[in-house]
Amino acid sequence: MDSSKYLNDPRFAGIKPFEKKLWLSSPTVHGEEQKWVDEAIQTNWISTVGANITAVERLTAELVGCEYAVALSSGTAALHLAVKLCGEKIYGKPAAGHGTLEGHQVFCSDMTFSATVNPVAYEGGEAIFIDTEYDTWNMDPAALERAFELYPEVRIVVLAHLYGTPAKIEKIVEICRKHDALLIEDAAESILATYKGKQTGCFGDVSAISWNGNKLITGSSGGMLLTNNKAWAIQARKWSTQSREDAAWYQHDELGYNYRMSNIIAGIVRGQLPHAREHLEQKKTNYELYKKALSDLPVKMNPADFENSEPNYWLSCMIIDENAMCRQVRSEKEALYNTEPGKSCPTEILEALAAFNAEGRPIWKPMHLQPIYRFHNFVTKTTQSRARMYSTPGEVHTDVGADIFKRGLCLPSDNKLTPEEIAKISDIIHRCFE
Ligand SMILES: *Cc1c(COP(=O)(O)O)cnc(C)c1O
Repeated sequence: MDSSKYLNDPRFAGIKPFEKKLWLSSPTVHGEEQKWVDEAIQTNWISTVGANITAVERLTAELVGCEYAVALSSGTAALHLAVKLCGEKIYGKPAAGHGTLEGHQVFCSDMTFSATVNPVAYEGGEAIFIDTEYDTWNMDPAALERAFELYPEVRIVVLAHLYGTPAKIEKIVEICRKHDALLIEDAAESILATYKGKQTGCFGDVSAISWNGNKLITGSSGGMLLTNNKAWAIQARKWSTQSREDAAWYQHDELGYNYRMSNIIAGIVRGQLPHAREHLEQKKTNYELYKKALSDLPVKMNPADFENSEPNYWLSCMIIDENAMCRQVRSEKEALYNTEPGKSCPTEILEALAAFNAEGRPIWKPMHLQPIYRFHNFVTKTTQSRARMYSTPGEVHTDVGADIFKRGLCLPSDNKLTPEEIAKISDIIHRCFE
């Protein structure tokens, strides 16, 4: 992208680039992390056993309000083990070299990060993508109902709570119970977000959170598997440490993984945990400042006011009204748009922000639009048959995920943004509509 196009555009006259880059969501270190990491080093406990690991498992379970937390190397590892637990429970233990989900389909959130759904493929399963709803930008319960009508044999659902806003989780749990399906919650982005006072990550049979560098709090990397099922927590911990049996040598009855969190990473998480709530408040302030500053534009913020739910406001996002969208064309890897008075589009806004040294991001591109998943089915609330949607002539389709991807974007949402910086970002966005 050529920044001079924006820096020389008379619409942006008088605006100077931010001196220090403004990030979408960067880590915020407080100091206590050092103490726990130092302690690990001084006591020589720097491997995958130690006091920090034990502490963060206990503290995270307490913070979220579930029985067990298993400390792992990433949120993706947690999702993989969650999928494997559900797969074994329903379909039994496969022979070595085979996935637990071979020959089986799994319903998955569609508009999400690929890490939500890839673990289904790791286990040999086939993801079927469920459309998004406007109310929460998460899995549409009506589309999930429709999917169970079309595929009554499916027994596992993987649901993500996007950008920190809880899905209609009570309804989703009810649909899963009705169809005797297990629910995996991907709460990687939504730690501390609640529905009716209960935190995301506590509704499903098993869930995953992430301590990746751009999440609400971080261990630099790392993640956790959460569950109320003691046997599952023990099983996940065993798998994560190479599945050693209790024997005098390395004895293996099942496949193992090297997914355990290190005591150094756990030290960073341990130092960050007391600051989770404070980060949430800062993110909420960002959201409210943006909402106010953008209220006179033909845009809306991402949903945060769905009944009974309280988001963690991880990312502030906006969506442009359909009639205020300038023409924008996206190929697989590039985008072009026309400048039009009174209108704008995500491409223009993201490029303008980047030219002034601020990082935004497109909405997660839906999985059913991703080349790796192009042969997978996608179910919306209006889908009428099991055939791949684009191959059935005459069917009318809603595609909410594709629409939000087209019109939406994530704003710089770092918890260290100042009100002045948010005002200036909002000013740049206003000028995009001139
Ligand atoms: C970050 C994220 C993950 C993956 O977590 P890692 O710790 O990076 O492996 C999974 N799902 C969603 C929705 C995420 O945002």
